[in-house]
Amino acid sequence: MDTKTVPATIGTPPTADDIREGMIKKLVYAVGKDPEHATIQDWSTALGLIVRDHVVDHWFRATRESYTRKDKRVYYLSMEFLIGRLFNDAIANLQIEPAVVEALSTLGLNLKDLLGQESDAALGNGGLGRLAACFLDSMSRLAIPAYGYGIRYEHGLFRQRFHDGWQIEEAEDWLVSGHVWEFERPEVRYTIKFGGHISFDGQGKTNWHADETVFAVAYDTPITGWTGAHVNTLRLWSSKPTEILDLRRFNSGDYLNAAEKLIRAETISRVLYPDDTTPEGKELRLKQEFFFTSASLQDLLRRFMMEHGDLKRLPECVSIQMNDTHPAIAVAELMRLLADEHRLPFVEAFEIVRKTLSYTNHTLLPEALERWHVGLFRKVLPRHMQIIEWIDYHHLAEVQARNLPIALEDIRIIGHGSEIRMGNLAFIGSKRVNGVSALHTELMKQTVFADFHRIYPDRIVNQTNGITPRRWLYECNPPLRKLLIDAIGTGWIADLEKIEAAAPLATDASFKERYAAAKRENKVRLAGEILRRTGIKVDPSAMFDVQIKRIHEYKRQLLNILETIALYHAIRRMPDAEWTPRVKIFGGKAAPGYHVAKQIIKLANDVAKLVNSDPLIGDKLKVAFLPNYNVSLAEVIIPAADLSEQISTAGMEASGTGNMKLALNGALTIGTLDGANVEIGERVGPDNIYIFGLTSDDVAQIRIDGYDPRATIEGDPVLTEVLRSIAEGDFSPDEPGRFHDLTNILYNGDYFLVSADFQSYFQRQRDADHDFRDTSRWTERAILNTANVGWFSSDRTIRGYARDIWKVPVG
Ligand SMILES: *Cc1c(COP(=O)(O)O)cnc(C)c1O
Repeated sequence: MDTKTVPATIGTPPTADDIREGMIKKLVYAVGKDPEHATIQDWSTALGLIVRDHVVDHWFRATRESYTRKDKRVYYLSMEFLIGRLFNDAIANLQIEPAVVEALSTLGLNLKDLLGQESDAALGNGGLGRLAACFLDSMSRLAIPAYGYGIRYEHGLFRQRFHDGWQIEEAEDWLVSGHVWEFERPEVRYTIKFGGHISFDGQGKTNWHADETVFAVAYDTPITGWTGAHVNTLRLWSSKPTEILDLRRFNSGDYLNAAEKLIRAETISRVLYPDDTTPEGKELRLKQEFFFTSASLQDLLRRFMMEHGDLKRLPECVSIQMNDTHPAIAVAELMRLLADEHRLPFVEAFEIVRKTLSYTNHTLLPEALERWHVGLFRKVLPRHMQIIEWIDYHHLAEVQARNLPIALEDIRIIGHGSEIRMGNLAFIGSKRVNGVSALHTELMKQTVFADFHRIYPDRIVNQTNGITPRRWLYECNPPLRKLLIDAIGTGWIADLEKIEAAAPLATDASFKERYAAAKRENKVRLAGEILRRTGIKVDPSAMFDVQIKRIHEYKRQLLNILETIALYHAIRRMPDAEWTPRVKIFGGKAAPGYHVAKQIIKLANDVAKLVNSDPLIGDKLKVAFLPNYNVSLAEVIIPAADLSEQISTAGMEASGTGNMKLALNGALTIGTLDGANVEIGERVGPDNIYIFGLTSDDVAQIRIDGYDPRATIEGDPVLTEVLRSIAEGDFSPDEPGRFHDLTNILYNGDYFLVSADFQSYFQRQRDADHDFRDTSRWTERAILNTANVGWFSSDRTIRGYARDIWKVPVG
């Protein structure tokens, strides 16, 4: 390597003096502030900039190395990256925390205060987006040369606030005080076309005459792997107009219309759609999907042509992963680039596409697989419509020739001539299709993709989701981190399965005591946050019972609330009995248009109001709904949890990752046999998890046999009393009929089988109450959760993708 180009700082971790001096320089010359007048925000920016310098050194070295080696590259296309804050992540990965803390103390500053200034980049809705963020971390950890590609939303997921217990959405503005982690690359930009018509020149050249074009401009964020040994790039695209201002209109005094094109173009990367299952604002959503997919493919093809040149080699040099169907248009867009721009014959282009792309499925609900009306699709993407017609026909002919007993209509991409099924397009255009937990993959083979599985028995594979142990233990849980390092060393940070060495310590008295003390410290911290954010005072020695995730009927927060009410009634009847004090902690956002989910939030808040102020109840039961659940809040709640609620209707949660984070931090799970709960149960053992309720097979059978929710409710006096109390307005005396819709759903449909699972859930909760009173035994079981879930590291997941799908070596 040319030593002249290697910055001197590489390999020499900064001292406290380096950091202090560096920060002062950044403050003065980059932030433009005199230290005497600097705010905490200014100092935070200065710290970010100095940490960033160290990240950048590693980043350039790693990028140069993979260019020289011409390694196979992985491209992870995702509509969402829920990365949260990055300062602490970089400090942790570079292992410079002691130097930073020391430097700050000489400046009279506190690291926590500075970290708290960073905005939380919420470029995602929930699990799917957080998975993409954990994968970036693990790809860097494993030194896989990879790019994450997505959209640089100007406004991420809305900020949630409660007004009188109702969810209020406010625009989020993470970019407002500057985001030090991104580098704008104005020179890296691509033209993205929409609409118009297609012409053929008779010489085999196809031209797409668009009626709207925008630029996609790159913004790069370095993603630091453990120790900084490898750093990858998250490249997010921002939409910019191709013409700046209509000067003719402007000069004629028509200022607003002169800027119209600018506004229209920038709309594409303006907001994240607040739902990851149903396409809303259809045309704009379709444009967003095409926008980032096209820009990413153009970018990676440019890089490929520079490095290799021969398009036939694309599959051996490049793997592209589509996170859900949002980037599934990649199948047609890559075809278009290969055939129309690079002049490959369609058949050859299609072979290359099918060896390069892979698709991760995240849902079994057929209604949640994206579909576009042919009319809209043809209007926005006329050339892709033609290409999809070709693929559909070509594929149909292929399958027909094999004479399989399959209803051909079901495997078409264009359904009934009127809709484009993106799930089918993604499947047909992929080398591998994966599910995200063992159960989900099995159900994929039996349900949504049963026909495809018959045609391509080797295509579907499983890769059970995982979480990065750096963020979800090392960074978010300093007391437990310290204890583990003292007891079993540091190996688990880069290789989480080594955490198993803590299992034998579950019965070691001194380890147990220190483990319990670490949990206690985290609970005290969370109690402080609850008080600060909601005004509710909770006792840290109570059981912290946590359900944090998007609010959705299938996740069944309602089941948890009903159980809370039942417990409330029971305590009121016998206030002097021996109760296990509990704090029910909720967090999660409802999609703005999802009325039932918003009612569930309101009910939780109304129940909290009554329960928390009832003098008969006192500390025996508290209910706290923390507003604005996001990655940063998760990092505070998870280390403090005793019980983890994973109570979805069996067969509906593809995997879950919140379940893994909580188990790793020593919460026992109460859950159904759904998603990755099944695999968590296998690893922690039946004594260290509370499983209840219907299995996915039971649910499937009930869907066939029919289910009488009213009879189920009436057969259960506890549940009947709970629903009576809601319906009569005990929790909403100002408006007794407020929750009529909710009770009506339970009595007259209950698709998510809340009532069917209520009794077994209630019983398992009482088991947990009983067990929690034996604090010593509970701590043992918490330790066994921490020690036995090392397999759920996203490093293990990414090794699986690398081995089974991408065929790339790992470091
Ligand atoms: C992990 C995570 C999720 C996913 O939680 P599930 O319980 O798996 O749905 C959602 N949001 C945030 C902020 C997370 O960190």
